[in-house]
Formats: sequence, structure tokens, C-alpha cells
Amino acid sequence: MSSMAISARGKVREEGPARLGELLERNPYMYEIYPSEASREALTVFKMHEGAGEWFGLSAKPIDRASFAFGGAISDSHGYVVDAACCIGCGSCVPVCPQQCIALTDGVAAIDQSHCLHCGRCLNTCPVEAIERRWARMEVWMKACNLTGISLQA
Ligand code: SF4
Ligand code: SF4
Repeated sequence: MSSMAISARGKVREEGPARLGELLERNPYMYEIYPSEASREALTVFKMHEGAGEWFGLSAKPIDRASFAFGGAISDSHGYVVDAACCIGCGSCVPVCPQQCIALTDGVAAIDQSHCLHCGRCLNTCPVEAIERRWARMEVWMKACNLTGISLQA
């Protein structure tokens, strides 16, 4: 069975109820949540016209993952990275990775981003804090630029 997950963040605008019927046909379970015409009068349609996100193919082992952007948005950088300058090559992160996507080369760990699940187990295992979230770097940059009021997600 094929299974995938998509997360997206971006700007939306209200389209009104004109395409509501089309949306309900594609998601028939909504008829159970809003069974009557009267209950569906509360609904409207929003369209995300600019945004970015990630796609996870969960059927494969290891999983596949890719970022995307649309409407002129810039793709986000998520996940975890190894700071090669801090890594001492102890190898503790390798066996805890459920995706087997960490490899040691010349005594330095590196993460294969195309298979990383973003679980964070490696970060919690590293004894010298050589692994960090990519968003951590972005948060520092955003604070430096005084960009407040923006929600960040792992
Ligand atoms: S975040 Fe999880 S899946 Fe990704 S490299 Fe670390 S342990 Fe592996
Ligand atoms: S646990 Fe940390 S120090 Fe050890 S190999 Fe992995 S990244 Fe490097």
C-alpha cells in the first residue's frame, strides 16, 4: 500500500463557497461531519497560493523525503545537520538512527537528508552537541533580523 504525508505552510486567501461542492466530492468523509445543507453553510474554501513544505514517502524503507515550494516562496530548510567541526567521530548517532541514514566518513558523521525522518534521535544521542536542527540556525537569523510573530515548526 502506498502511503505519503505532506506538510505545507504558507499564505492563504478565501475563495468563498463556489468550489465547496468539488472539495466535498474529493473528500466524501466531510459529508459525515457536515451531513446537512444547513451545517455546510458554515463552510468556505481557502486556497494556499504561496508556500513551502515537505513530502514524505512512507511506503519505502528508508523513507523518501523532499522539500517543495510554490507561488514564489522559498523552500524551508528542516531536519538535522552535523557540524563537522564539532563531530568527534564517536559513532554514537549511527546505531540509533531508525533510517540508517548516518554514515561516518574519515571520522566525521553526515546525514543523508533524502532519507532522514526528522525524529531527532541522533541529536539527543550526540555527546558533544555536534548535531543541530536546521530551524535552530533559522531562528537565530530571524531573531537577529527582528522577525517576530512567525511560528516555527520542527
Ligand atoms: S533525525 Fe532521526 S532519521 Fe534523521 S538522521 Fe537523526 S536519527 Fe536518523
Ligand atoms: S554522535 Fe555526534 S560526535 Fe558522535 S559521530 Fe555522531 S555527530 Fe559525531
